Amino acid sequence: MGGNWKMNTTRAEARSLVGELLAELDGLRGVDIVILPPAPWLADAHDLLAGSTLRLGAQHAHWERAGAYTGAVSAHQLAGVVDHVLVGHSERRRLFHESDGATARLLSATLEAGLSPLLAVGETAGEREASETGAVLRRQLLAAVEGLERLDGRVAVAYEPVWAIGSGESATPSQAEEGCSIVRRVVAERFGPEAAARCRVLYGGSVSAANAAELALLPSVDGALVGGASLRAAEFAAICRALAASGAG
Ligand code: PEP
Repeated sequence: MGGNWKMNTTRAEARSLVGELLAELDGLRGVDIVILPPAPWLADAHDLLAGSTLRLGAQHAHWERAGAYTGAVSAHQLAGVVDHVLVGHSERRRLFHESDGATARLLSATLEAGLSPLLAVGETAGEREASETGAVLRRQLLAAVEGLERLDGRVAVAYEPVWAIGSGESATPSQAEEGCSIVRRVVAERFGPEAAARCRVLYGGSVSAANAAELALLPSVDGALVGGASLRAAEFAAICRALAASGAG
C-alpha cells in the first residue's frame, strides 16, 4: 500500500497526519504500508515513524549522486531517510516531461542507493481508446528496466491508468485486472516466471474506501497506490484494512 500525498500539506498538517496514521495503522498485519509525503517533510516523518511498521517513500529523486542540479534531491541523499522511491509517476512524465530514459536512470539509481523503487506505468485515455494500453505498458515497463539483468525483489510496479488518477473514476475491476496482468506478463517475458510471481503489482487511480475491497480481491492485484484518499487518515486506514483482509497485501 502506498499513500502518495503529492504537493499537499503544510509542515504542521504533515506531522499531524503522520500521527493519525500511526494511531490507525501501526502494527497492522498482512500489508506493507508506505507513505510518501512531500520532500521537505520527509525528515520529520522519518523521525515520527521510527520504531513503527509504517515505511517512508519519496515521490521523486534525481539519479545523479550529487552535483550541480539546483533544486534536485538525489536517491543517494535520500538513503537513510526513506525506504522507497516512486519512479515514473504519470504526473512526473506529463508535467515535468520525464522520459522513459529518465525513468530508467532513476530506477537504477534507486536500487544502487539501496532503496526500493515503486515504478508507475499507465496509459492515457486516448491511448486506451486507440487500443494501445498493452503496447504502452510494455514500452514504459521495458524502458524502465532496460539496464537490469535481473529484477530485484525490491522493485514493485503500479499500474496507474492516467485517466483514473485524481478523476474519481477508478478503472473497473476488469480493467484493473487486465492492466496488472499485462504488467506481470511483461515482467515474466523479460525476467522469467519466478521474478513475475515475486514482483508486487499495485493498482492506482481513484482508489477509495468504497472500491478498495473489490480491487484487492483481483488475482493480479497485490496492493494499491493511493493519492487523494491517502490525505484522509481514516479513509486511508480503511483501504489498508481492506487490503490486509483480502490477503492481497
Ligand atoms: C496517484 O497519484 O498515484 C493516484 C493514484 O492518485 P488518486 O488516488 O488521487 O487517483
